[in-house]
Amino acid sequence: MSISEPDLKNKGAIISAKLGTKQAIIDILEKAMDKGIFDAVLIPMRVPAGDSFAYVLIKDKSLLKEAFPLPPVMSVQGGHAVSSVTRLGKGKTKIAVVMRPCEIRATIELSKLGQTNLENITLISIDCPGVLPISDFLSDPKKSIKLFDDAVQKWDDKIMRPVCQICDKSSMITGDIHIGTLGAKKDSFFIISSSQKGNDVLDKLDIALKDSIDSWEAKVKIISEEKLKKRKKNLKELKSKIGGIDNLLDAFSQCINCHNCMRVCPICYCRLCYFDSDKVKHPSEDYLQRAESKGSIRFLPDTTLFQMGRMMHMSLSCVSCGACEDACPMSIPVAQIFSMVADDTQGLFDYVSGRSLDEPLPLVTYKEEELHEVEDAND
Ligand code: SF4
Ligand code: SF4
Ligand code: SF4
Repeated sequence: MSISEPDLKNKGAIISAKLGTKQAIIDILEKAMDKGIFDAVLIPMRVPAGDSFAYVLIKDKSLLKEAFPLPPVMSVQGGHAVSSVTRLGKGKTKIAVVMRPCEIRATIELSKLGQTNLENITLISIDCPGVLPISDFLSDPKKSIKLFDDAVQKWDDKIMRPVCQICDKSSMITGDIHIGTLGAKKDSFFIISSSQKGNDVLDKLDIALKDSIDSWEAKVKIISEEKLKKRKKNLKELKSKIGGIDNLLDAFSQCINCHNCMRVCPICYCRLCYFDSDKVKHPSEDYLQRAESKGSIRFLPDTTLFQMGRMMHMSLSCVSCGACEDACPMSIPVAQIFSMVADDTQGLFDYVSGRSLDEPLPLVTYKEEELHEVEDAND
């Protein structure tokens, strides 16, 4: 698996989708299960009540018809789901996983962090139009599904989450197989392979990779460039508002220290977070001393310390997926703040989280020639 950005040479096949893209994807997965290429499929599905979506590991292929490859919300970050299935080893089951690009990137980061085993996993991504803010969706699920479908038809991201509107990696291929809907003719889409594993799967499915994907690449390039421009502008504005410790304190002033943002983050994988441990619980005299030295102390304490600690621990692997912002009960733009910090920290190492399995995590490699900018800034 390696970086497969639009300008690199991928191979593709045009797939006819007269009954819609969703049905065509399900047909391909069913065929793959019939042929024993996959024993199971991990894919989003609508919950029985119809008002949300969940990742489901499907062994009975007749259930695939209920699958929802591109749900309107991200109720669980897919990286979490893959990690739950494979954290304790690869197992014997060959599993296809269908996810959005940011979820696949999180899965790749988790693999580098020893939290997933991808040997028997085939990662399948789809061009992603974004997802709705979970609070908007929950206010009227039925209406939201309709609005989402209309927005996807027009590829209009105005109703999507703020991080999705500035996601320049929504078609980035870092898994094994990618489903490209952009630039495709009516009633068709592209299947693109980007690894030997992907080639082998498509070969067994008799899908010949012989078609040009130039129109997909051209469309992806336009959209990615537009979004990158918007990302730089929006995050620059955000930095001007919350840069510096005082502004950062203000940004998190409404934080209630619930740690939801950490619990839903695919990259925050520690079983026991330091900030949930006894190490941050102190005897009452300590709090009284702190209250005495400052005049008062706010409870729950150390909210900003938690955010800064989390940033230091995981910003190099943050994939800007937005799960933390969706989970924040106080509507703090957590994902935008973390994306802003991640762009800076990852930029320092010329690293893009989840871009490639072959790219080592910056903090486990030592390069003699790096970080001169930081030295210069400190001179
Ligand atoms: S951040 Fe949003 S637009 Fe980007 S891949 Fe994830 S869900 Fe899609
Ligand atoms: S910090 Fe937020 S945006 Fe970044 S990976 Fe975690 S949940 Fe996603
Ligand atoms: S989810 Fe929101 S309120 Fe809860 S700890 Fe995170 S930033 Fe604070």
